[in-house]
Amino acid sequence: MRRKTAVVMGGAGFLGSHLCDKLIENDLNVVCIDNLITGNLKNIEHLFGNEKFKFVNHDITNFIHVPGDVDYILHFASPASPIDYLKLPIQTLKVGSLGTHKALGLAKEKKARFLLASTSEVYGDPEIHPQPEEYWGNVNPVGPRGVYDEAKRFAEAMTMAYQRYHGIETRIVRIFNTYGPRMRLNDGRALPAFVSQALSGQDITVFGDGSQTRSFCYVSDLIDGIYRLLLSDEKEPTNIGNPSEITIKEFAEEVIALTDSTSKLSFVELPEDDPKVRQPNIDKARRTLGWEPKVSREVGLKITIDYFKKELNLT
Ligand code: UDP
Repeated sequence: MRRKTAVVMGGAGFLGSHLCDKLIENDLNVVCIDNLITGNLKNIEHLFGNEKFKFVNHDITNFIHVPGDVDYILHFASPASPIDYLKLPIQTLKVGSLGTHKALGLAKEKKARFLLASTSEVYGDPEIHPQPEEYWGNVNPVGPRGVYDEAKRFAEAMTMAYQRYHGIETRIVRIFNTYGPRMRLNDGRALPAFVSQALSGQDITVFGDGSQTRSFCYVSDLIDGIYRLLLSDEKEPTNIGNPSEITIKEFAEEVIALTDSTSKLSFVELPEDDPKVRQPNIDKARRTLGWEPKVSREVGLKITIDYFKKELNLT
């Protein structure tokens, strides 16, 4: 039987590269497309030389051509941390809108199944807690996060339009905060910031009073959920994340404890429109995919801390 082929857009990024690994492990060919703005070849270096893997340096906001049969297209291309999309607002809007359109065009051409990486940011600063997929969200379109939130909301709308109008098979995953090896040390997110600060004995920069909450999912759990969604019949958006919720202040304290650090907390200004709470309702993923996260925060954080120690040449 012919080996199936998946195209992973944004495949050199944190999540994209783990997805490439998962697909290759499951005996698919992978064409990884990335323009390396926030992605890094280091994340996929181990795949070069593998006959199932191919890398193409391309900006998917321009016409995409992939020769041969394509069975799956997974669109993970976008700056995805608040610092990244504040630095790259136009690229973020373009890849979510024009890039999604081009990726869907390729899916239509190849009669491939399309999976969109969406985000919990579509819920904005949520007024319903935890967030179920039916919630429409509370997003400020003109705030600093609007470039990401609205691009992803548009991407979801475009994906549903291709499903309904062109009959393309589509899947939408709403990804909640995820962490693990290959996260960039300097992407400005809480976890890499806290771990690198704790490891170097600097103050931990807690934004606001740290009472805002997040729910962190370890990367292998997330990738497993996405792979199950890809192969499932679920056409409507599906939350994938870990419902174990924690305040950012407690999270900073956990990182200090796990790194045996002497760092102290330093409270700095809260960024505009920073969501006050976030926790996925994963009833649907449990029901339709038989999925739930397995890796505890303690186990996942230890693995991630070891990874950052190596990155910082501390081991
Ligand atoms: N945060 C923080 N210190 C930092 C970076 C982030 O206190 O150095 C806070 C941020 O304000 C947010 C939470 O940690 O409330 C998670 O931020 P992150 O950038 O990881 O992702 P977000 O969930 O906001 O997209």
